[in-house]
Amino acid sequence: MITRVVWYWLQLRHNQWLPRKKLEQLQFKKLKTIVSHAYEKVPFYRRLYDEHGVRPDILRTLDDIRKFPVLSKELVRDVPLEDRTAAGVDVSRCTLRTTSGSTGIPVKILEDERSIDYLDAYHLRRLNVYGYRPWQKIIRLTTEPSGRESLGATGDARAGLMKRLRENRMKRLVVADNVNKHLETIMQERPKLIIASPSYFRVLAKTMRDRGISGVRPRVLVTWGEVLDEGTRAYISSSFGSEVYDGYGCTEAAPLGLAWECKERAGLHINMDVVLLEVLKNGEPVQPGERGEVYVTSLFRTATPMIRYRLGDIVTLSDEACPCGREMPLIKNIEGRLVDFLKMPDGRMISPYAVMSAVEGIAGIAKYQFIQESLDRIVVTVERGRDFDPNTITQLKSACNELFGRDLELTVKEVESFPLVRGRKFRPVESQIHMPQ
Ligand SMILES: [Zn+2]
Repeated sequence: MITRVVWYWLQLRHNQWLPRKKLEQLQFKKLKTIVSHAYEKVPFYRRLYDEHGVRPDILRTLDDIRKFPVLSKELVRDVPLEDRTAAGVDVSRCTLRTTSGSTGIPVKILEDERSIDYLDAYHLRRLNVYGYRPWQKIIRLTTEPSGRESLGATGDARAGLMKRLRENRMKRLVVADNVNKHLETIMQERPKLIIASPSYFRVLAKTMRDRGISGVRPRVLVTWGEVLDEGTRAYISSSFGSEVYDGYGCTEAAPLGLAWECKERAGLHINMDVVLLEVLKNGEPVQPGERGEVYVTSLFRTATPMIRYRLGDIVTLSDEACPCGREMPLIKNIEGRLVDFLKMPDGRMISPYAVMSAVEGIAGIAKYQFIQESLDRIVVTVERGRDFDPNTITQLKSACNELFGRDLELTVKEVESFPLVRGRKFRPVESQIHMPQ
C-alpha cells in the first residue's frame, strides 16, 4: 500500500536524526513489542522461552535482551516454518524467502505485506541520502528470479499500484544470467542507481573495459553482500565514474537493512530503528575497536520473527561521531562473507550468488559447500537434511549442469555433517584456482 510506505518513510526519515538516547528508547519500545508478539503468537518462541524460563515482562532495559536465548542458523533451519510462523498470518499473502547467506545453511522466512512496505521505506530513506528520487530507475542484481518463491506463498506479496510502480522503476537482473546480457540491459535502461555485490561490480567493470564500453555512468553504485575493500571501491568507482556506497544486510532479519554508509563514508550507520544489532564476545557486548560477533533482531518482521539470530559475521564498532550528525552508531569494519566467483573452462565467470541461489531451491540440503579444485573440476559437499531423498542429488546435479555446463568434472559428496574447521571461516563457494583480477 503506497500510503503505508509513505507513512513508514516519514517516520524513518525523522528517526535518522534523533539523538542516541531517543533512538535507544524507540528501539527498546519496538524490541519489547516484537518479543511479546513472538511469545504470544509463535509456537517456537513460546516453547523456547518457556524452556529457558524467560518471559517478555522481564525486559526492562535493552540489556535485558541478553537474558533471552540466541538462535543459531542450525536451530532455525531445523524448526519447521509453520512452527516459526505467527498465528493469524495469511501465508498465501506472504512472500517466501530462502537464504543461506555466508554459511551454506538454507533458512526459510516469510514476509507479509506490511513488512515489504517497511522494507521499501527504509531503502528509500537510505537511497534518498544519495540523491535518489523514487521515480528514478534502479537496477538490482538479485539471486532470486521472480516467481521462484513457491510453497503456497505467492511471488510478490503486493498487488496494485505499488507493485506497478516498483516494477516500472526497479529492474531485477538475475546473477545466473550472462554478464554481457546484463551490460546490454544497463546501457538500454540507463539506471540512476545499481545495487550489486562488490565482486559482481568487478566482473561487470572488467567486461566493460575488455569490450571498450564507456558511458555507462549511473550516479551511484550500492554494494552489499560481501566485504567492500578500498581497492575494489576505487576500481569500480573509476570504471563506472560513479560514487560507491557500501551496505550491510541479511535476508533473514532485514534485507539490505542492517547498516549503511552515509555520504561521509565514515563507517556504516546501524539502522537502530529497524534492527537491534548486538556485537558480542562470549555473550557480552564488546567495546568500540574490539572485534565481536553479530547477533541480529528484526524490529519489524512479524510473520516469522527473528530474535537474537546469530549471523556469524565479525565486526568492529566505532565510537566516533559521524560528521553527518546522525547518531546511529557506526560499524568500522566488517569481516567475513567471503565467497568466490567460479571460472568455467569456456571462460565464463559464475557468480557465487548464482550458485547459492540454485542450491537454495532444492529441498533436503542442510548445508553445502562448492569447491573449485581446478579449472575443470568442482566438488560439491552436501550435508543431508530432513527432507533428503535420492531426488535431492538428482536435482542438485541437474542444477549444476545447467549452471556450469557439462565441460567440467562434477563430484557430489554426501556427508552426515561437516567437520568443524577451527580458525577459518566457512565459505559456501570457494575457488582454489588463481584468478587474475
Ligand atoms: Zn554519517
